[in-house]
Amino acid sequence: MSKKNEGGLVLEIQRMSTEDGPGIRTTVFFKGCPLTCAWCHNPESILARPQVQWVGSRCIRCLGCVSVCPEKALTAGDAGIEVDRDACKGCGTCADECPTTAMELMGTRYTVEDLVREVEKDRAYFESSGGGITASGGEPTMQADFVAAFLKACRDRGLSTALDSSGLCTKAALNRLLPYADLVLFDIKETDPDRHRRFTGVPNEGILANCRYVHDLIMAHGTPARMWVRTPLIPGFTAFPETIARIGGWIAENLGPGVARWDLCAFNNLCRDKYTRLGLSWILADEPLLSGRELEELAEAARASGVDPEIVHASGATRMEDVENGEERPERPRLTLIKGGCC
Ligand code: SF4
Ligand code: SF4
Repeated sequence: MSKKNEGGLVLEIQRMSTEDGPGIRTTVFFKGCPLTCAWCHNPESILARPQVQWVGSRCIRCLGCVSVCPEKALTAGDAGIEVDRDACKGCGTCADECPTTAMELMGTRYTVEDLVREVEKDRAYFESSGGGITASGGEPTMQADFVAAFLKACRDRGLSTALDSSGLCTKAALNRLLPYADLVLFDIKETDPDRHRRFTGVPNEGILANCRYVHDLIMAHGTPARMWVRTPLIPGFTAFPETIARIGGWIAENLGPGVARWDLCAFNNLCRDKYTRLGLSWILADEPLLSGRELEELAEAARASGVDPEIVHASGATRMEDVENGEERPERPRLTLIKGGCC
């Protein structure tokens, strides 16, 4: 690990991932994101600094955390330990003091060397599966210099690399990172500018321009080698056939054979507890999963949108459907569960 405030700020290292690129991958989630998507599956990744969360089920009410906090940011109330997030400096003293890991510090500083050493432990899995490492987030381009050095170091050691980005960044950041990425996972959440701004808090013109830019580099130089486009299927936001058809039309018109795959990632609500632990409410907390039939309809809209149907992949958990009109439930597509959900 690095000294305080030095090195890359990492939220989590997730091993054995099968959804962030080909093969078995180790995904490094970097902390900090400029978007505030209404459906965000990783709300703890948004702030670009360490923060604590309290897990009530593990707490034995010893109050050690309250007594050691130098900022007096913690209080014990009827509902448990409350964090004054304006006062908290993310120093981690309370988490160090906690005997049960009920108080957790999210966000750890790494040096490039330490981070590479961590991911290299999974080399055997990469080699047997055609996998590698994926830099994700949050938004990894927010730490472009560190992530570029990390990807380069992985490449130098023969590890395959992928960059997973929302695309909201400068071209300078892309230029630093792309020479060291074998694959780019690029999110296109919505092509309509007004809807994109309402759902994510940011405009999409720069994102779409960056998407074209990455694709042009692939076609002109073969670096990075290829890109996968990813679109989250969020009930009430993006999970409409007309939205998916619109995004597919944009891909067909603006991109080309550099796009090896278009992933449609079904909404899941596994992150509900994350919001609770951070003391946040979530607009989608009670939203059910898509049904298998809904997911297939969206995939069909994608395949009919003008892109090569072969590149469309739909995945994610789906809910059980009720038997309708006395007819048997249609067979559901083969699906895999994404841990955090993409985008
Ligand atoms: S992280 Fe530091 S400042 Fe924040 S609550 Fe814990 S001890 Fe207090
Ligand atoms: S130190 Fe840990 S177990 Fe003790 S009150 Fe704080 S969160 Fe709960």
